[in-house]
Amino acid sequence: MISLAIIGGGPAGLSAGLYATRGGIKDVVLFERGMPGGQIINSSEIENYPGVKEVVSGIDFMEPWQEQCFRFGLIHNMNEVIRVSKNGKYFDILLADGKIEQAKSVIVCTGGTPRRSGIKGETEFWGKGVSVCATCDGFFYKNKDVAVLGGGDTALEEAIYLTRMCNKVYLIHRRNEFRAAPITIEHVKNNPKIEVVTPNIIDEIIGSNSVNAIKVTNIDTKESKDIKVDGLFVFVGYDVNTSVLMQENNQPLCDLTSSGHVKVDLNMKTSIEGLFAAGDLRESALKQVVIAAGDGAVAALNAIEYLESTK
Ligand code: FAD
Ligand code: NAP
Repeated sequence: MISLAIIGGGPAGLSAGLYATRGGIKDVVLFERGMPGGQIINSSEIENYPGVKEVVSGIDFMEPWQEQCFRFGLIHNMNEVIRVSKNGKYFDILLADGKIEQAKSVIVCTGGTPRRSGIKGETEFWGKGVSVCATCDGFFYKNKDVAVLGGGDTALEEAIYLTRMCNKVYLIHRRNEFRAAPITIEHVKNNPKIEVVTPNIIDEIIGSNSVNAIKVTNIDTKESKDIKVDGLFVFVGYDVNTSVLMQENNQPLCDLTSSGHVKVDLNMKTSIEGLFAAGDLRESALKQVVIAAGDGAVAALNAIEYLESTK
């Protein structure tokens, strides 16, 4: 029997793992389907985590987190969790390999997944010129022209990153206003390699075996034009990963908000006793590493209290 199961090994899950193991809980298992680290390992840089002296890549930033947890006894089970359900006092955790693990308490930290834009050609050219990771794929476009789609923090930050290796970056956004932080917008506007193309939508990705151009239309003037690019980076937000909470009857295990985020109180407790949620998937999350990490610590400390109370 697992004492505490943590689902998802991003900043929230790893922080929960650290606080739970250091808090004296034995048999704390982290279920993470891939390499621990979470979404931030796809980011070229992080500079807003307190104490980080210089810009560091997401991968390098997250590497010591897992090492630290494993040192205190966190067990990593590299498996995808399909479903968490309540079975009497305990929780059943159904894994992708069909195995069911039992746990006394669960912290769900499954974060989010990059969203697809749905533009024509996106699926056809996915991985062949269309990417959601500048850190992973930017190098392939050294000295070439690329386009970035989106107007949030991710799109603008990654557009700036791409200017380090690309010749030119077209930033395509459907509105004239950006969602990104004001300082990031300022950096974009001051970057001579970025051409802001707003208010524009992409109608189509044009190419044969790889991307050759994108067709864009100005929403105000209705004028269309082709922009020659070798790659398109899509950063249009992401969806909350709450599928592990969906039960066989298609109802969620605990209460969710209308936007699909998990309802929690200030202790990261969900509507189900012994079940906690932390990080980007919980309601009102500001979707930052520091906040996810704080959530994970709060959830773990309260899970410890729960486990003590049920002894
Ligand atoms: P996630 O990081 O999403 O981690 C969830 C983990 O759960 C993943 O590892 C996933 O593989 C795993 N998982 C999901 N479902 C399952 C399952 N069924 N079974 C097993 N494992 C599962 N924030 C900042 O503070 N500063 C930044 O500079 C910054 N830059 C960013 C750049 C990009 C490109 C992106 C996308 C986000 C950025 N963010 C940044 C936001 C930050 O990454 C997130 O707020 C943070 O990672 C959330 O952590 P989390 O642990 O809640 O979830
Ligand atoms: P986001 O803030 O949701 O922005 C998504 C952008 O894509 C929006 O500008 C949206 O346009 C556009 N968009 C959505 N669907 C589209 C479509 N089908 N076609 C064209 N454009 C579309 O997502 P994000 O940038 O990934 O950020 C997610 C969260 O992580 C945010 O809370 C963000 O602050 C955080 N984050 C923080 C940092 C940081 O702090 N340094 C870095 C990265 C991310 P509209 O604006 O018109 O809706």
